[in-house]
Amino acid sequence: MTPVRNVPVLIVGGGPVGLALAAELGWRGIRCELIEQTDGAISTPKMNEVNTRTMEFCRRWGIADAVRNCPFPGDYSLDVVFVTSLCGHELARMARPTRAQQKAESYSPERLQICSQLWFDPILRAFAQSQPGVSLRYRTRLDSFEASNDGVSVELLDLETGKREMAHADYLVGCDGATSAIREALGIGLSGQGVLGHPVHLFFRAPDLLRQCGKAPGVFFLAIDRNGLWANIRVIDPANGLWRLMALDSDGKQRPDTVDRAGLLQRAVGRPIEVEWKGVSVWTRRSVVANSYSHGRVFLAGDAVHQLSPTGALGMNTGIGDAVDLGWKLAATLAGWGGPGLLASYDAERRPIGLRNVGMAAEFYLAHGEFAGGIAAIDDDSEAGRQLRARLGESLARDVGRMFRTAGLQLGYRYENSPICVDDGTPPSRDDPEAYVPSARPGSRAPHAVLADGRSTLDLFGRGFVLLRFGDAPTAPLEQAAKARRVPLTVADIEAPEVAALYGRKLVLVRPDGHVAWRGDGIADAGKLIDRARGLN
Ligand SMILES: Cc1cc2nc3c(=O)[nH]c(=O)nc-3n(C[C@H](O)[C@H](O)[C@H](O)COP(=O)(O)OP(=O)(O)OC[C@H]3O[C@@H](n4cnc5c(N)ncnc54)[C@H](O)[C@@H]3O)c2cc1C
Repeated sequence: MTPVRNVPVLIVGGGPVGLALAAELGWRGIRCELIEQTDGAISTPKMNEVNTRTMEFCRRWGIADAVRNCPFPGDYSLDVVFVTSLCGHELARMARPTRAQQKAESYSPERLQICSQLWFDPILRAFAQSQPGVSLRYRTRLDSFEASNDGVSVELLDLETGKREMAHADYLVGCDGATSAIREALGIGLSGQGVLGHPVHLFFRAPDLLRQCGKAPGVFFLAIDRNGLWANIRVIDPANGLWRLMALDSDGKQRPDTVDRAGLLQRAVGRPIEVEWKGVSVWTRRSVVANSYSHGRVFLAGDAVHQLSPTGALGMNTGIGDAVDLGWKLAATLAGWGGPGLLASYDAERRPIGLRNVGMAAEFYLAHGEFAGGIAAIDDDSEAGRQLRARLGESLARDVGRMFRTAGLQLGYRYENSPICVDDGTPPSRDDPEAYVPSARPGSRAPHAVLADGRSTLDLFGRGFVLLRFGDAPTAPLEQAAKARRVPLTVADIEAPEVAALYGRKLVLVRPDGHVAWRGDGIADAGKLIDRARGLN
């Protein structure tokens, strides 16, 4: 019998989450193969907002500049605008600095970037492909798999040649999207609010749309008429005049060829206009989380385990968080220093984050529905109409506008009750979606501070564990314990008192993903601590 080839990690799905996992594993020197059934071309881009946490991961991979310098113009307005229609009345404008005007925030060396999936996926793909151990295979489909205690046998189909192939993987990761066949085959169900609606997504080219409407530039326009807040219109690629209109809901019976695209466009713009159509899709807005993120040697990440309303731009960003958490745990396990509990902690850490983010995204979406009824005069050129628009504008910017003020959601997620973090007995900081409250409490993202040499504390983290030392606490016991177990660990001395105050203890152990595993003023049992952090409980 011909021996089947072995792959340490087989990733199914070349969307942004699968690509991020391949990138993370490759960056860690782990051999992996990603298979994607399509050719990877993006016809109808979905994602546009690469959030601050994802940018911090991109910074670690060395691709933050590529994302920042994507073709979205640096001087283009990022304003969010509430309108009766694109050519109609403006109710409120949430002014936001352009990328060129943005100043650094105190809490991160990075900022959320507007970078369409049209550009972001290819950046991730090129980076993943540049890693020596990564192989990306397009037009290849996973048709079946069988998992055992030793690994996973997979059946792959080359869609170009029709050739079938059997392979063996130590671990299989399903990044195969919302309709994940891997999740289904494992019998893992989804729980939550279920279907929230059936949005229609129109993608088109209209280079001088705003000029035709006499509107000042903005990136995102939300349309509210006498029937309520019903659509948003987003510029995807200003230089090429590419736009997306999303009708928030439809009757659930539409197909791309039955959608009245001209009618929807006219309602959104406020008058008939000519555009070059690029694509139409009808999708289902869901609010669900998988009941489990893994089974044995098979793991799931991204939309395969959480499907959420795009309100708040948390879908891909949450999935990339999954990929980073799973990536270092797979790498440590394959390298032999990860304990048996390390991979099990993936579900324990990431599922609660899925629930948190899916819940917030639904809350943001449901806020849209509160602006219906009693607004028949919204378009009237009367004093009553003007007053109604002013009142509505204020409430819309406050309530619906929350989904654009999410620093806390992006950075404040933490791994409460994680089996591989050591609780220090302090109360959790406030998990406020709007305001990020920095905290070095175990489980949290180790906070950013500027170091004496101008780098960020975040630049210290990534390859292995890092023991931050503030002052003269002894580090040798932990260094020796780590060495004895082949756990990569370095010590970083920081003298700045303001950074010491931010971290709150003389010693802080930061994991390869930049989350705090433990902090204290001294170490009682170094072996026990390092075993806990590597999943050997
Ligand atoms: C309108 C809209 C706007 C959005 N905006 C944002 C945003 O601004 N920010 C954000 O973070 N998120 C956003 N999202 C969500 C984001 O697009 C998704 O969360 C993200 O694409 C999920 O990535 P994924 O890799 O998990 O899944 P997908 O992108 O769905 O990729 C799954 C891949 O798996 C492949 N596949 C499936 N089965 C197999 C198989 N058997 N063999 C081989 N390949 C297979 C599929 O072909 C597909 O390419 C938005 C979504 C929508 C609808």
